[in-house]
Amino acid sequence: MDLMEYQAKELFAKHGVKTTLGVVVTTPEEARAAAEKIGPCVVKAQVKAGGRGKAGGVKLAKTADEAFEHATAILGMKIKGLTVNRVLVTPATPPEEEYYFSFLLDRANRQYLCIASVEGGVEIEEVAKTNPDAVKQIAVDPGTGVDESKARAIVDEAGFPAALRDQAVVMVQALWKVFEDEDATLVEVNPLARLEGDVLEALDGKVSLDDNAGFRHQDHAAFEITEETDPLEAKAKEKGLNYVKLDGEVGIIGNGAGLVMSTLDVVAYAGEKHGGVKPANFLDIGGGANAQVMADGLDVILGDDQVRAVFVNVFGGITACDEVANGIKGALEILGEHATKPLVVRLDGNNVEKGRAILQEMDHPLVTQVDTMDGAADRAAELAAK
Ligand code: ADP
Ligand code: MG
Repeated sequence: MDLMEYQAKELFAKHGVKTTLGVVVTTPEEARAAAEKIGPCVVKAQVKAGGRGKAGGVKLAKTADEAFEHATAILGMKIKGLTVNRVLVTPATPPEEEYYFSFLLDRANRQYLCIASVEGGVEIEEVAKTNPDAVKQIAVDPGTGVDESKARAIVDEAGFPAALRDQAVVMVQALWKVFEDEDATLVEVNPLARLEGDVLEALDGKVSLDDNAGFRHQDHAAFEITEETDPLEAKAKEKGLNYVKLDGEVGIIGNGAGLVMSTLDVVAYAGEKHGGVKPANFLDIGGGANAQVMADGLDVILGDDQVRAVFVNVFGGITACDEVANGIKGALEILGEHATKPLVVRLDGNNVEKGRAILQEMDHPLVTQVDTMDGAADRAAELAAK
């Protein structure tokens, strides 16, 4: 789960990262009231996307009336496709210098990684391109983590100014606590700012929490903003499905994350020939492709108005193709009239002949079988384009 800035800052404060919480509001009137108490402030769009400043979602307000005006403009605006439903009103503390700092998972090397740069002010991706030496990457051993001496090593490597060194060491340890204690996969501060009087403070915060560790953190559930979750994603979650809504027309069901990812690729590629249709979702039904799981998956996908055809791509392994075929058959029976869109099914692997025979025999008007993945992707894209 990705957190909004104000939520990330709550976790920062909990673990002793210097930051200012501000007030989260949903109306311009509340923004005015907050600004009356705070004084000169910034009004910041709260959406789960970076680059809010560039998009006009971060505005300085010298007076409460200005805060009202900015909130009016920012609330309801769209940033990277996300509607702004709340703004953070927080004291204006103009940075004298801006730095970048993050902890993240380094899957390829089976460790954690700290990325730090004192060349702030521009986007970190830009700095990494034009001045790669200014972006320090420091490996963190998961076994030992970040103690004070490691924090000092990081601060030295990053090149924080001498006047901020001790504060930075405290900050780095506190950010590590957020990363480790909260089971985060990303903790990012951009900018980590040098404020007037040589004060180091996190002016922005981005945290991704590892949902697999959710059972250890009952309090994390409170971060979920239910009215902003996509209703289809919410339904899928309720049914224990691994589903992500995308923006295309071809619904996708597969077993195994790797297969589903490559299915998205072949569908996107095939779609180019058919008017640019694209995958509508990611859905991995995992190992147990029984009728109920298949029905749940189809039900979610068919609930997406944008979907015009569905591609079921299954490689039979422990769950053999005949079980999957029976799953599809059962799902269509369960769904009855709710199944309204063409289904292209490609089965391969364990017991493929039996599986194909079951579908052939069923002879359902909505179901087409295609033996190859590319062929099936092409057919599904073609049907979606009709
Ligand atoms: P984003 O990264 O989404 O653009 P930020 O929170 O980083 O949003 O804000 C963008 C810029 O606005 C920052 O780089 C900083 O220069 C400025 N800014 C952010 N918060 C404050 C603040 N409290 N006071 C003054 N300037 C701020
Ligand atoms: Mg930022």
